Amino acid sequence: MKQYDAIIVGGSSTGSYFARQLGKQGFSVLVVEASSEDKVGTNYNIFHMNKTDFTRFNLPLPKENEDKAYEFTGSDALSAYDHYPKPHELTMIGMHKHAWLMRLIGEAKKAGVKYQFASPLTDLILKDNRVIGIKCKDKKGEKEYYGKLIADCSGIPSVARVKLPENYGVENFEISDTEQFYVTLRYAKYKHEKDYVKRQRTWPFYKTWEAPSADPTGAILGVGATLNFEKGERIYGEFEKAVKLPEYEVEYLERGTTPYRRPPYSFVSDSFIAMGDCACLTKPHLGEGVTSSMVQVDIAADVIGKLLKEKKDLSRENLWPINKFYVEEQGKTFAGMLATLIGATTSTAKENEFFFKEDIIFSKASFAAMAKDQNITFSTSEMIGVAMKMVKGVVTGKLSIKTINILLKAMKNSEAITLHYDQFPTTPEGFEAWCATADKLWQACGKMT
Ligand SMILES: Cc1cc2nc3c(=O)[nH]c(=O)nc-3n(C[C@H](O)[C@H](O)[C@H](O)COP(=O)(O)OP(=O)(O)OC[C@H]3O[C@@H](n4cnc5c(N)ncnc54)[C@H](O)[C@@H]3O)c2cc1C
Repeated sequence: MKQYDAIIVGGSSTGSYFARQLGKQGFSVLVVEASSEDKVGTNYNIFHMNKTDFTRFNLPLPKENEDKAYEFTGSDALSAYDHYPKPHELTMIGMHKHAWLMRLIGEAKKAGVKYQFASPLTDLILKDNRVIGIKCKDKKGEKEYYGKLIADCSGIPSVARVKLPENYGVENFEISDTEQFYVTLRYAKYKHEKDYVKRQRTWPFYKTWEAPSADPTGAILGVGATLNFEKGERIYGEFEKAVKLPEYEVEYLERGTTPYRRPPYSFVSDSFIAMGDCACLTKPHLGEGVTSSMVQVDIAADVIGKLLKEKKDLSRENLWPINKFYVEEQGKTFAGMLATLIGATTSTAKENEFFFKEDIIFSKASFAAMAKDQNITFSTSEMIGVAMKMVKGVVTGKLSIKTINILLKAMKNSEAITLHYDQFPTTPEGFEAWCATADKLWQACGKMT
């Protein structure tokens, strides 16, 4: 019976990046992917990432007229009535997802990784209460594969994680309909040359954006919403009434969802790891998950690489540093952001206008921090300045006490959650008590929906 060092379920961006990182270290890796090779990553056309991330994750650069769609610098966040731009000047690269993924898969294959396309996982194989392999089916029937590690990179369906026995050590929740963010993209053609898009614009109040497209005469008009696509359409209608967009024709629409909930408290257990969208690693403020997942993958590839080289067991205890390092590097910031967002998205259009005008809450500094995936922190004097502006808002009738209370509560929750994640246990000992407190803190935050 062949035993792979790692079996990766799902060969999209997270799975193939992880496969490449392990393959490059010389380990035997099998990727089982539900889609056929020509369909993998075709759930939507274009995605983008910061140009600096190509160096950070040593990623293959897309090529003109192949997988590269566009490159642009700069983004302006605007108020509910389209005023007070808050710019940042990062450079973004847009890529055709399937074509770029094939480039990444090519690198993984070159590193010796084996792919089984059109082979969806059907079950986990357990022995003595430990995951030791998977079953999947292809045209010829059901097959069994064995590995020292099973990595679930299957996205929102989380096909392996949800099959874990209760109390296996990684939560086996399904990512429910109310825990997803519903994204609709309009691929539009602009009628007038003067309107062609050079920078990105975003309107956080509606969670809408206008981004360049592969077609220089076009744009991608996006809206994201909690609950369902219909809600997104309703908000998009309100947005178009308040903000005058250039004249356009829609060429086609794309829809998809991203996870919008806290990640499992632990990603690892005996011979198992949950990664990427399956572990809800999307950026809370943007819903993007390609590179935020790579942060976890790099940590995991490093820890697992060392364990495999030292011929150590991939047990929960030995894999535990992946949890701790991830929380330190990104998890606690994202947890704090998620808690803040629950409050920051409850203001009215007029209040949003006030915040943009006074440069508080939706401030230039907060957008600059978020562009770098950081949570904003305030010094005492800055807090006093914010408080004084808020008092002015209440006195002039532009801000309600209720909104201020919600915001203050969100900030307090965010701080408490960040501090608690800072105390994430370095070993599995004390984890249950840590989870019990975390549960209480998340309950105090309320729900995104
Ligand atoms: C419309 C839209 C636009 C987005 N734009 C961006 C963007 O610009 N930048 C960004 O960073 N993020 C973006 N995101 C988010 C990003 O797509 C996800 O965070 C990212 O794709 C997560 O990658 P993943 O590999 O973890 O999961 P997925 O991309 O969901 O991949 C999971 C893979 O697992 C496979 N699979 C499923 N079931 C099984 C099974 N039973 N057996 C085997 N394999 C299985 C699937 O076929 C798939 O290939 C966008 C999302 C949407 C919906």
